[in-house]
Amino acid sequence: MEHREKPRILIVDDEKMNLKVLADLLREEYRPVLARDGEQALQHAFGDAPPDLILLDVIMPQLGGYEVIKRLKENDRTKNIPVIFVTSLDSVVDEEYGLKLGAVDYITKPFSPPIVKIRVHNHLRIVHQYKLLDQLAYLDGLTEISNRRRFEEYFQREWARSARNGTPFSLAMVDVDFFKPYNDHYGHAMGDRTLQRIAKALDHALLRPADLIARYGGEEFIMLLPETDAFAAKAVAERALKAVAALNIPHQHSSAAPHVTVSIGLVTTRINGDITPQAFIAGADKNLYLAKEGGRNRVVAGVIGF
Ligand code: GH3
Ligand code: MG
Ligand code: MG
Repeated sequence: MEHREKPRILIVDDEKMNLKVLADLLREEYRPVLARDGEQALQHAFGDAPPDLILLDVIMPQLGGYEVIKRLKENDRTKNIPVIFVTSLDSVVDEEYGLKLGAVDYITKPFSPPIVKIRVHNHLRIVHQYKLLDQLAYLDGLTEISNRRRFEEYFQREWARSARNGTPFSLAMVDVDFFKPYNDHYGHAMGDRTLQRIAKALDHALLRPADLIARYGGEEFIMLLPETDAFAAKAVAERALKAVAALNIPHQHSSAAPHVTVSIGLVTTRINGDITPQAFIAGADKNLYLAKEGGRNRVVAGVIGF
């Protein structure tokens, strides 16, 4: 729910009158999308703009509600869309069956409009909270950029995509210079604050939506630059390096500069069968080591596997 659009509710019923009543009821707060049968419902659900919630009739000619929910649950893209059955089948056996198929709720006709509204509202809120929790699980608590877990997943996905498309791929390891003496001198709390500012500066240095900055651990960050060749990646890394230096955070115990700096190990590859993700990261690590050895506050770049 990034862009605060009204949630989309797919209403499925073969009775025109029922569709109208439910749509009128929900229109103020939601965007009703209507389907007259199971086939239409699936088309909407698998389409470009899937619904946030589905109100599903059970008895419909051809494809009935039970069959529709089974198909929704079989597909990763649709299995988490909450489904509420709205049906004239009112025995506990029917209700139990519907819930066992994965419906979040079961409303019997004739329904009370305010209760339908409240239940829809409640289920959408639960979904929203799940999404927030999910996002939190991928954020680093201190810096609020992506965490390592998010990096691992994104890396895998982008690696596969890059291998399919034969596009170049770059990755940068970023490590704060002389951060142990920084902590020792300025204190751990100040160290934390500095890591937050560095994370923000690195984040701002990335301009493409597909780029990712994550906290890799301790005072180490990692930047993923999909579809970025060596030349462009070098420019990004240099920009990141300058962005941190430009924060101008005093560091009396650094031999690299009078302010806080980072060293960056950069590597670019065009993915083919010969190189593994592990070797790729090891390549960035090696260049980071060379950047440290070479005096810190610098980028060392390399190309492997071309
Ligand atoms: P180099 O220039 O070679 O990278 O030296 P360094 O001192 O930065 O490297 P080293 O790996 O010896 O020390 C890293 C330090 O980073 C140690 C630790 O105190 C600090 N550090 C790691 N994570 C955190 C954190 O979350 N908060 C704070 N304040 N400090 C951290
Ligand atoms: Mg380190
Ligand atoms: Mg360090």
